[in-house]
Amino acid sequence: MKYTTLGKTGLQVSVVGLGGIPVQRTDVKEAREIVEECMKQGINYLDTARGYTVSEEFFGEALKDCRDKWILATKSMSRDYEGMKKDIEISLHNLQTDYIDLYQIHNIKTDEEIEKCFGENGAYKALVEAKEAGKIGHIGATAHSLEAFAKLIREYEDKIETMMFPYSIVENQGAELIHECAEKNIGFIVMKPIAGGNIDNTVLALKYIVNNPDCTIVIPGMGNAEEVRQNTCEEVFQPLTAEDEEECKKIVKEVGSQFCRRCGYCAPCPQGINIPSNFLFVNYKRKYGLADWAKSRYATLDKNASDCVKCGLCETRCPYDLPIRDMLEKVAKDMDY
Ligand code: SF4
Ligand code: SF4
Repeated sequence: MKYTTLGKTGLQVSVVGLGGIPVQRTDVKEAREIVEECMKQGINYLDTARGYTVSEEFFGEALKDCRDKWILATKSMSRDYEGMKKDIEISLHNLQTDYIDLYQIHNIKTDEEIEKCFGENGAYKALVEAKEAGKIGHIGATAHSLEAFAKLIREYEDKIETMMFPYSIVENQGAELIHECAEKNIGFIVMKPIAGGNIDNTVLALKYIVNNPDCTIVIPGMGNAEEVRQNTCEEVFQPLTAEDEEECKKIVKEVGSQFCRRCGYCAPCPQGINIPSNFLFVNYKRKYGLADWAKSRYATLDKNASDCVKCGLCETRCPYDLPIRDMLEKVAKDMDY
């Protein structure tokens, strides 16, 4: 395992951390096994979220006797002061700890959300209070859209210490902003390293990220001890070879032609469909086997794939020429709507 400093937080983290989405399909016993294997392999960073159903609770149980060996990160979708204050307490309770190392504002999407979070009675105020009270150590943010990413690291760089955004062999639209994070010493946390399950060669996917000096830490979701061993094998920490580069190009060609990068250029859809979210949620079902969770997230969308009237406007805007109408039809079928 290799270790590095998580930007301004000063925390010493393993460059591969434990992502907490797949633990939802396990139980407390398996969560313990995952945690134990991670420690064996030198992983000391764990990322979960209020929104990952039982994830915080399972990890709370699993970390009972080894909390001090871990740098613990979680996040909340709350945007206002009261909501965030409440969520911090719930996270502390669920994780069975009195201190969370990093608390993140989860998946900020729009300018309005950003302004609300950092406004007078916003979530950020509750995070600062918790930090002053010694309940959390550091404050970060996560996003899926480039616009939110850019705004957060350019206009709120004095407030956030870490930033999380998707990055992978097939999803490198954030590369310039990730470099900006490195220049500003904002710890950059890579989510979706295997592009939501679209890349089969996990070892190469992680190696690609570990070899990018702008990326601080990558947090692949791991649902059993075998996945932990695979994601921490020696190969992950070797330099990329010419063969690897060739393989990456092949993956981009194969996966890239049918893969949504969540760039958002297809918006707005006249029917009000959030196109990238439809693809994101269906992947939780298809690739992670989290059918119930995927469907519950899908159900929160005001409009979904079945509302598509096939006007084709989005396809004229997608820089990756994705057959969005066909893809949405498959999403609608998959989600039983
Ligand atoms: S084809 Fe469907 S998703 Fe695309 S813009 Fe038209 S209604 Fe929206
Ligand atoms: S469908 Fe195309 S334009 Fe829309 S978010 Fe995905 S990659 Fe971007």
